[in-house]
Amino acid sequence: MTLSYWEKKVWFNALDLVVVGSGLVGLTTALFFKRRSPRSKVLVIERGLLPYGASTRNAGFACYGSPSELLDDLEQQTEGEIIERVRQRYLGFAKLLELLGSDHLGYRATGGHELFRAKDAEDRDRCMEQLSHLNEMLQEVFPGPAFRRNKESPKELWGFKGFTDAIELPHEGQIDTGKCMQNLLKLCQSEGILILNNIEVRSISDQGAQVELETSQGIFHTRQVAVCTNGFAQKLLKDEVIVPARAQVFISEKISGIPFDGIFHVHKGYYYFRNVGDRLLMGGGRHLFRAEERSTEIQTTATLQKHLEQFADRHILPDRQWRIQDSWAGIMGFGSHNEKGKLVKRTTPNVVCGVRLGGMGIAIGAHTGEETAALLLG
Ligand SMILES: Cc1cc2nc3c(=O)[nH]c(=O)nc-3n(C[C@H](O)[C@H](O)[C@H](O)COP(=O)(O)OP(=O)(O)OC[C@H]3O[C@@H](n4cnc5c(N)ncnc54)[C@H](O)[C@@H]3O)c2cc1C
Repeated sequence: MTLSYWEKKVWFNALDLVVVGSGLVGLTTALFFKRRSPRSKVLVIERGLLPYGASTRNAGFACYGSPSELLDDLEQQTEGEIIERVRQRYLGFAKLLELLGSDHLGYRATGGHELFRAKDAEDRDRCMEQLSHLNEMLQEVFPGPAFRRNKESPKELWGFKGFTDAIELPHEGQIDTGKCMQNLLKLCQSEGILILNNIEVRSISDQGAQVELETSQGIFHTRQVAVCTNGFAQKLLKDEVIVPARAQVFISEKISGIPFDGIFHVHKGYYYFRNVGDRLLMGGGRHLFRAEERSTEIQTTATLQKHLEQFADRHILPDRQWRIQDSWAGIMGFGSHNEKGKLVKRTTPNVVCGVRLGGMGIAIGAHTGEETAALLLG
């Protein structure tokens, strides 16, 4: 593509920062960088027509870790590390809330619940035994108890079937994922950040005085680059470990008198569901198809979708008529062995990355963007 003088002047000349990827992390990196360096020229480039990874495709849970997930993490990490991650998630979401405001985020403080099936009895017993300890551990993070055991059964509370117990997570809530990203894009543009779509970065070469980007639309130069391509980052960051993990979800058609309002976690968060108004949104099951779901292909599979549908039929909407309206997939990024740590790092003198958000991007995305921007600014 041959660019005109005008096109070069407005969009591509004298760039201070190019952010690769327009997900939550890419956009907040650009925003925090521009706020701290208002005269800088910042361009975000995105390969998709829309952001095409996880940020416009997620389930919209503002969540901080269910009891079984945290106890599982405690087997690999110290209490201090777990407390710090929960704090980052809780304060990280507060940052996103502060940035966009509750209305623009479509935030509803519905609270959340962890549910246990009969086959999760061992996990349930462990969680119930450890609940006071977990609450004590997290009292420095939350303004009240992190977890409360529900006295009534999930059947009595919501008409669910096959769940024996529930634990309430009162600090959690729902966001409207589409609204969040649309308003974040608007905010970036209103603060002078340039955003271009349909450009794929193929390689990045740090040449010292400048960084050269080879893209599907030609070669561009900039002073610094932030790689915010999360689950796809391995292609551009050959020396780091970023493992893709596909996640699949569906949303139902409207269900009259849907009997629940909130977000729900099952089996250490491997299944999750919520209402979106009067629809059911459900996802998960990735743990049953690990090898297949270690993929950057953004597509659903019939087997996993069938599994989710059966789960919903059996447990969430038993004895009801309901139908799926849309199904989709998105790609997350993890470390090796499903490791949860994000990776914010300078990879060469003028290139940094902010990637590997796992399933926690709504909570830690804005904070990761702020950290990535701080690293760029030195
Ligand atoms: C189905 C699903 C459900 C989820 N549910 C939740 C949830 O309820 N709560 C929660 O906290 N988290 C959830 N997550 C995780 C959360 O969405 C992510 O952690 C977060 O969106 C990551 O943001 P990001 O900006 O790092 O990555 P992304 O949003 O993936 O952004 C990366 C961007 O980089 C672009 N890109 C990639 N390669 C290139 C290239 N070479 N050139 C140019 N552009 C490129 C991609 O197109 C993409 O837009 C879910 C994820 C999925 C998939």
